[in-house]
Amino acid sequence: MVREGGVTGRGIYSSTVTHLTVAITVESLESAHAAAARSAEHGADLVEYRIDSFADDADAVAALVEGSPLPCVVTCRPTWEGGAYEGDDQHRIAVMERAGLAGPAYLDIELATYERSANLRQKVELVVDHAGQARGTDTGLILSAHDFERRPRDLFQKIEAMRDAEACRVIKVVWWARSLRDNIEAFEILRDAHKPTIALCMGEFGLPSRVLAKKFGALLTFSGLADETVAAPGQVGLDRMKGLFRWDALNAATAVYGVISWPVGHSMSPAIHNAGFDAAGHNGVYLPLPIPPEYEHFKATVGAWLDYAPLDFRGASVTLPHKEHLLRFVRESGGTVEPLAEQIGAANTLTVADDGGLRASNTDYAGALDAVCETLGVERAGLAGRRVAVIGAGGAARAVVAGFVDCGCGVTIYNRTVVKAERLAEELGGASGAVVAAPLDDLAGSECDIYVNCTSLGMSPEVEGTPVDVAPGSWGAETVVFDTVYNPVETRLLREAKAAGCRTISGVEMFVRQAAAQFEGWTGQTAPVDVFRSVLLTQLSG
Ligand code: NAP
Repeated sequence: MVREGGVTGRGIYSSTVTHLTVAITVESLESAHAAAARSAEHGADLVEYRIDSFADDADAVAALVEGSPLPCVVTCRPTWEGGAYEGDDQHRIAVMERAGLAGPAYLDIELATYERSANLRQKVELVVDHAGQARGTDTGLILSAHDFERRPRDLFQKIEAMRDAEACRVIKVVWWARSLRDNIEAFEILRDAHKPTIALCMGEFGLPSRVLAKKFGALLTFSGLADETVAAPGQVGLDRMKGLFRWDALNAATAVYGVISWPVGHSMSPAIHNAGFDAAGHNGVYLPLPIPPEYEHFKATVGAWLDYAPLDFRGASVTLPHKEHLLRFVRESGGTVEPLAEQIGAANTLTVADDGGLRASNTDYAGALDAVCETLGVERAGLAGRRVAVIGAGGAARAVVAGFVDCGCGVTIYNRTVVKAERLAEELGGASGAVVAAPLDDLAGSECDIYVNCTSLGMSPEVEGTPVDVAPGSWGAETVVFDTVYNPVETRLLREAKAAGCRTISGVEMFVRQAAAQFEGWTGQTAPVDVFRSVLLTQLSG
């Protein structure tokens, strides 16, 4: 029998082990056993054999169970519940009965099938362990319900029916998540469980329920052998679950962080921050958190996640299109907003204090300033009086200009659309004259100490783009040329500036340092900057 856990003092059930389970679609005995053996090598401790298309021969199914390299769940899911089995229930249950006699850890039967007839129930109950079972068997019955379209209206009635079914050892509910908020309901189901329970959300919003199943004491979560072979929408492969999402380190006290974005697919931040938590020994996990673009979605989702205390939601990186939403949300919630973030009009970091207080800050400008200070070997105060050319007048430029102005630099904004540069100069420099605007064409003849490219020129795949041709001798050896573009790591601008003898800084340094400032705000520990850099460079070269 696989380990299941026990009932806590409150009469509530909690799993002491959450089994990392790989679902295997069985096509042949050999390939299924080979997949199970590979799953074991990659750290799975349970497999689910999906025999939907392998249910013709009951003896072959029995051999599948008997020769399994890992304890197993046997499931034969009919088409009407999202599976591929098209035959009749009588045959299906007969095959499951035979499978049950071969001694799997669990048989999974849909609640709807179980409730359909006393005859089916009787047959199932003959081969599973329950109070009325005379024959010795360890096989447990999972009763399950799935909805591939929505949260079922009768979710709790279903859970109650599973709870009341004496022969049911494990409750399993899975539904399609409409937003990140659905995960909270899955966590609550786990926290209130009276039997070993599996509560999972499908789809891109459901990932937290899969990863945090362990934090909330689920009996198991599903994973694929590889990301490409996952069996249900939103599942992740074993390697990502164990490597990226720190499966082995997760426990009830794990704090939760994430990157809020829309879309969120290609963010490199989960790889960076989770590697940082590993390196620093911080008990946290960092997840991709997709939130649709409107403020209402942001407010409702972030509000619900913060209000749900058992989640320990302690911070987030916030990126497009939510940077302004974060400022507004924290202001409306009575939290504190970093003054420079207020001035920039955007924040990229949410930090939740121990007492629940919220803070919005902007680590983009901080990351840029830290990268320049390190290259020059000065503190921020040492930047005062330097002449800075910021190229571009978009979101990145806003943060960078505000940061340099705050340090007492004189800034010229060069932009293709001059009127945007003028507007930004007026907004961030006011009447002080510290910020002026100029057309992009004037850049070639300019004489500044620091040049920062905040346009997308030079970014992959248009790698021959550059805001200015740097000819040898045009800028001196003391000139710092900094490109916020990080893909490629060395842009054409940086290549030419280096050849001309300038000191260069890659956008990787800004990215790494803005992440480091977030990490330090959340954990109170020094960020492992070298780890961040190496993870980012690996991601960029992949
Ligand atoms: P944005 O708001 O869209 O602004 C884009 C800027 O680029 C505008 O000033 C635009 O000029 C200019 N631009 C675009 N195409 C151009 C072209 N063909 N010729 C001349 N100028 C052009 O974008 P953003 O959010 O500020 O991001 C800009 C860059 O910053 C991105 O490449 C991103 O990789 C980088 N970034 C890096 C980090 C980091 O951590 N390293 C962080 C944030 C951003 P107009 O006003 O004339 O349209």
